[in-house]
Amino acid sequence: MDRPAIDILGLSFQELTHLVEDLNEPRYRAKQLYQALYKDRVSSLDQISTLSNELKSKLVERGVKVGLPIIQKKFTSVDGTVRYLLEYADGQSVETVWMPEGDGGEAGDGSTAGDEEVAPPEKPGPTRATICVSSQVGCAVNCQFCMTALLGLKRNLTAGEIVGQVLVVLNDHQVDVQKKRINLVFMGQGEPFHNYDNFIKAVRLLVEAVRVPESRITVSTSGIVPRIADLGREPIRPKLAISLNASNDESRTKLIPINKKWNIAALLEAAKQFPLRRREKVTFEYVLLDHENDSVDNAREVVELLRGLDAKVNLIAWNSGPEIPFATPSDARVHAFQQTLRDAGIPAFIRRPRGRDIYAACGQLKRTAS
Ligand code: SAH
Ligand code: SF4
Repeated sequence: MDRPAIDILGLSFQELTHLVEDLNEPRYRAKQLYQALYKDRVSSLDQISTLSNELKSKLVERGVKVGLPIIQKKFTSVDGTVRYLLEYADGQSVETVWMPEGDGGEAGDGSTAGDEEVAPPEKPGPTRATICVSSQVGCAVNCQFCMTALLGLKRNLTAGEIVGQVLVVLNDHQVDVQKKRINLVFMGQGEPFHNYDNFIKAVRLLVEAVRVPESRITVSTSGIVPRIADLGREPIRPKLAISLNASNDESRTKLIPINKKWNIAALLEAAKQFPLRRREKVTFEYVLLDHENDSVDNAREVVELLRGLDAKVNLIAWNSGPEIPFATPSDARVHAFQQTLRDAGIPAFIRRPRGRDIYAACGQLKRTAS
């Protein structure tokens, strides 16, 4: 009977060790595979120079392959942002976004799907970039303002498929992760905490094998409360961002249906319990929707909610999408909201939209082929 193919991308060092042992190969082969996959970022067994041809044939016979996604389409924005449509073996695809210099600086936490915090400029130059990663094909949360929601959930991504997005984009830009400051944000398609095990396994590989420091990785959740506690217990974990997006339960339930299950009080309690590292803060994201959740009174409610929390707020003026009945607030409204938070001593930043012209900005990721 044919044994199933084995995609080795996404396997941990331990799993690779089991694989080579199964093939009666010495254990050092696992290390060679691990290095080839995550450090050299090979896209096929052929490219692994440390393996003998004999061993490569044996691996092929066993059905071993390297499952990097392929670049189906690539859109480049006037601001340098690149939106990739990446396709997996089963024909499903996701979007991954590359933002050169897409980092709000040390004060920030990296940026987010397409958007960037406005912070005082640091040293300019192409020394840093942010990659916005997807965790699922589509999303089940159904936030009323988000284009990804229109897809529904197609499926979860495996750890290898998540890591693969990062590897493909790094390869496309020929990045040396030791030299360039790479930030990763799990703010693409999907709710990472609905795919927790694969997400966290991918994070471990990205930190331990690809060598992106965990302090430069951020995960954003719409508020899957039990998973916030789980994340807090992980030995290797990204920073936490929570999509608050509303200043009271009535409004939040309308915008983010899971608020019925985990309301704002439960969410903030989880945030309070979350164990922070030195100099770390929890980030709250707040999508501003014109005359929906963006008044100064709403901002005052947010101030009350966040009292006592070591938090910062990233404000995102809504990025428009067809078929979605909201509007983008004026700059004046956005600034008034920000000022209200700042006057109360809450660090609040406005995200600069990145790649809006190519539908790469926050909430615009929808697997669009054009
Ligand atoms: N699913 C996760 C992470 C991906 S969304 C989450 O919801 O947190 C990343 C961020 O984009 C979230 O803060 C989300 O609220 C925001 N967002 C979604 N749609 C948006 C839109 N159309 N304009 C601006 N931000 C949006
Ligand atoms: Fe899913 Fe996040 Fe979009 Fe909500 S905002 S539908 S959780 S991707």
